[in-house]
Amino acid sequence: MHLRNILLTALQCSGRKVVGQPGGLQMPNVAVIGAGIIGLSTALRVQREVIGANVTIFAEKYLEGTTSIGSGGIFRCGSLAVAPTDELALTAAANALALIHLVLRAPCNKTFEFIYREWLKTSWSYYQDVLHSDEASGAGLTEFPCYMFSDDERFTWNQVLADVIPSYRMLTHHEMELAPINAVGGTFFVTISVETRKFLPWAFQKFTKNGGKFVQRILNNYHELGQNFDVVVNCAGIGAKKLANDRFLEPVRGQVFKVQAPWIKCGYYLGLDTYIIPNVDHVTVGGTRNLGSWSTEVDPHDSESIWKRATDLCPSLKDGTVLEEWVGLRPYRIPVRIEKELVQSDGVTVKVVHNYGHGGYGVTLAPGCARHCVKLIREALEGNMASAPKSKL
Ligand SMILES: Cc1cc2nc3c(=O)[nH]c(=O)nc-3n(C[C@H](O)[C@H](O)[C@H](O)COP(=O)(O)OP(=O)(O)OC[C@H]3O[C@@H](n4cnc5c(N)ncnc54)[C@H](O)[C@@H]3O)c2cc1C
Repeated sequence: MHLRNILLTALQCSGRKVVGQPGGLQMPNVAVIGAGIIGLSTALRVQREVIGANVTIFAEKYLEGTTSIGSGGIFRCGSLAVAPTDELALTAAANALALIHLVLRAPCNKTFEFIYREWLKTSWSYYQDVLHSDEASGAGLTEFPCYMFSDDERFTWNQVLADVIPSYRMLTHHEMELAPINAVGGTFFVTISVETRKFLPWAFQKFTKNGGKFVQRILNNYHELGQNFDVVVNCAGIGAKKLANDRFLEPVRGQVFKVQAPWIKCGYYLGLDTYIIPNVDHVTVGGTRNLGSWSTEVDPHDSESIWKRATDLCPSLKDGTVLEEWVGLRPYRIPVRIEKELVQSDGVTVKVVHNYGHGGYGVTLAPGCARHCVKLIREALEGNMASAPKSKL
């Protein structure tokens, strides 16, 4: 008997009601679209917090073909607390699309900053718990020191990270002697790396052990599920552009190397586009950020540029063995969309809760955003589809 069923029996005996079914004890049916890190984290959180929920994940792709599978997996985020991959909008001054996004969409208010910090704090403490449990190795988590050399003074100090990661500090003059010639400053912190090739199967196994179901299928709309599910949760990553018809969601193409170089135990960044991130079984070497590009092909010019920049930063990388080159599409949106929506589709009214658009920080934000999303799922199950009041700050 699953733990969930035992809990349900206990609830039935105690006469308590199950969330989402006023007065009743029927178990809510929740569909999650997407089996990347956002879908899996959300599905696990629903199982944990919505007692009695039957959760089914629908996804076109699982592991290969998701953006999550090739992620560098470092726990870090941008400095502006505005949006995923926020510096992109500022550094890509020549990119009109990025600027339009920043100006039109950025909810530059204290409420959003607060929410963003809450996501990060929840995520940090979730990953810390796993890291310090006997499941850390199976989940692909490891801890490593990271030097972030900055080539732009505006982005040297990241107050959001300073608020969340206890070891975060500026580099000393002594440490700056090691810095590349074009570095203008830098920070040091001990952070977590999530090797998604291990984490996704670990999370998937937990999900099925808890009684979760998985259906491999592409969905073209919500009403395909609406009649059988009380709530549909949209965690489709870049696929949400079509599914939710969202013109504010754009791909940010990223190309990386996966390299076997077990002597590299430390992370290095120069600016935001050159990085070496130690994972459990390999290091991730990057990278590129191409806003608006849908290409998932490895570009040999990018390969050459990445390898040159990375080996300049960390020369011993030259002795590493390249395992693969990989390209993924970050789902870039200002802001991340965690929101309820009542969708009328083909005569069916569907309660949808969105959780997508995490850009370059989906691994970092997944547990925190899952928690926020599950709060909205509970509200939706209770019949409250109203959005939160807009902030006047
Ligand atoms: C090169 C690179 C490096 C990165 N490094 C980091 C990092 O170091 N740290 C970090 O925090 N983040 C990093 N990211 C970002 C991170 O990988 C993403 O934010 C995250 O993977 C997004 O996860 P997701 O679950 O939303 O999307 P995905 O992993 O793409 O999952 C989407 C899921 O939805 C399914 N789907 C989509 N549409 C449909 C449909 N119509 N019907 C059915 N199923 C559908 C897909 O099949 C898939 O299962 C990196 C990204 C890239 C590209």
